[in-house]
Amino acid sequence: MEKVAIFFFTFLTLYLCVKIYLMIPFDEAYNIVITSSATYGYEEVRFTESVNRVLASDLFSDLPMPPFDKSAMDGYACRAADIHQALQVIESVPAGVIPEKKISRGTCSQIMTGAMIPEGADTVIPVEDTERQADGTIRFTGKTVHSNICPLGEDVQTGSQVLSAGTLLRDRHIPILATIGAVQVQVYKKPSVAVLATGTELVEPELKPGRAQIRNSNAYQMVAQLNTIGIQADYMGIVPDDEERSYRQFRDALDDHDIMLLSGGVSMGRYDYVPKVLERLGFDLHFRKVAIQPGRPTTFASRDQKFVFGLPGNPVSSFMTLKLFVKPFIYRCMAAKIEPRELILAAGTRITRKKNNRLAWIPVKITGEQKVIPVDYHGSAHIFALSYADGMLGIPVGQSVIKEGEPVHVRPF
Ligand code: AMP
Ligand code: MG
Repeated sequence: MEKVAIFFFTFLTLYLCVKIYLMIPFDEAYNIVITSSATYGYEEVRFTESVNRVLASDLFSDLPMPPFDKSAMDGYACRAADIHQALQVIESVPAGVIPEKKISRGTCSQIMTGAMIPEGADTVIPVEDTERQADGTIRFTGKTVHSNICPLGEDVQTGSQVLSAGTLLRDRHIPILATIGAVQVQVYKKPSVAVLATGTELVEPELKPGRAQIRNSNAYQMVAQLNTIGIQADYMGIVPDDEERSYRQFRDALDDHDIMLLSGGVSMGRYDYVPKVLERLGFDLHFRKVAIQPGRPTTFASRDQKFVFGLPGNPVSSFMTLKLFVKPFIYRCMAAKIEPRELILAAGTRITRKKNNRLAWIPVKITGEQKVIPVDYHGSAHIFALSYADGMLGIPVGQSVIKEGEPVHVRPF
């Protein structure tokens, strides 16, 4: 019995080690990331600050919209049955004013767009379809008659649900919040995110790099991408390739943040300390290699509600892996179920590659005719290629050739 247990335990340990060190398929890595996500409670924000936040409660309208029968035109409110006779104008009704006079046979009120329809009227004839006559009456000169009235409650009834919990608020939702008077809204809290760049060779962009140095571009790219989803990440500097320095800087960043994003230091080099230091900090490494190109050494680790993405140092890799893994993960941590947007378009040319054991993501241009053309790109360090690209094209494992005209999957940037 004891032998069986030892055998089983050894097998399990071996299996887990192999799993961590082996490349795992993209979909599996993505699933691990998404299913590991956590949320961080709620808070109230003013509606003007709610873009990119996720609603934590359903919202209902406190009034009907429109709140009264409303004119859709500048013109004359009258009875449709009367339009072939001269109409006597009895009142002028601006928007925001309650009409005083009732429309009866042969009368009309001048009315403005957005104004309340006077009692008795069932039609608004547009001013451009009328003629004022010498005696002050008006006459309909148009051909067809429409009501031009937006009836009370046509869009929304009092008490009806206008937005549901889980909605990621965009600019288009702001007028809805304003309309129903939801000036304070309950939203999910955002995770706090720290960004660090590892590499002894790095200097900050304001400096001229010395020999063997380069400017740190990843950290700023990462911060900028997070900004687009409403995350104001804290950039916490460059970490030299030194185990103790890494340990201290990672520990400090993790003390104050829920998520730590790193670039570099995850490959197989002698000075790539990230995985080791994360283990020393008590993190579980969920994967260290993903079968994607670029981005193979992408590393994901967690400890309780804290998460670390170790993205590869090459700038195109860190740019793409942030889109592929980190953005969807952070959306989940804000309680938004957002699947990455993928377009199916036609290849504008034949596309080939040599090795096909990984899912390739290549930067592409989308032409005016919606055809997909690869940009000039010579590998994961070639950050300049991205400035011409509109998105990334996925080439599945096992596929080496895409024929011109073949449907392809593109994730727009
Ligand atoms: P690493 O993943 O640390 O082995 O780095 C791979 C490549 O990316 C190396 O050529 C690094 O110099 C480069 N690199 C690493 N970090 C950055 C960064 N923050 N900005 C620009 N390039 C970087
Ligand atoms: Mg490095």
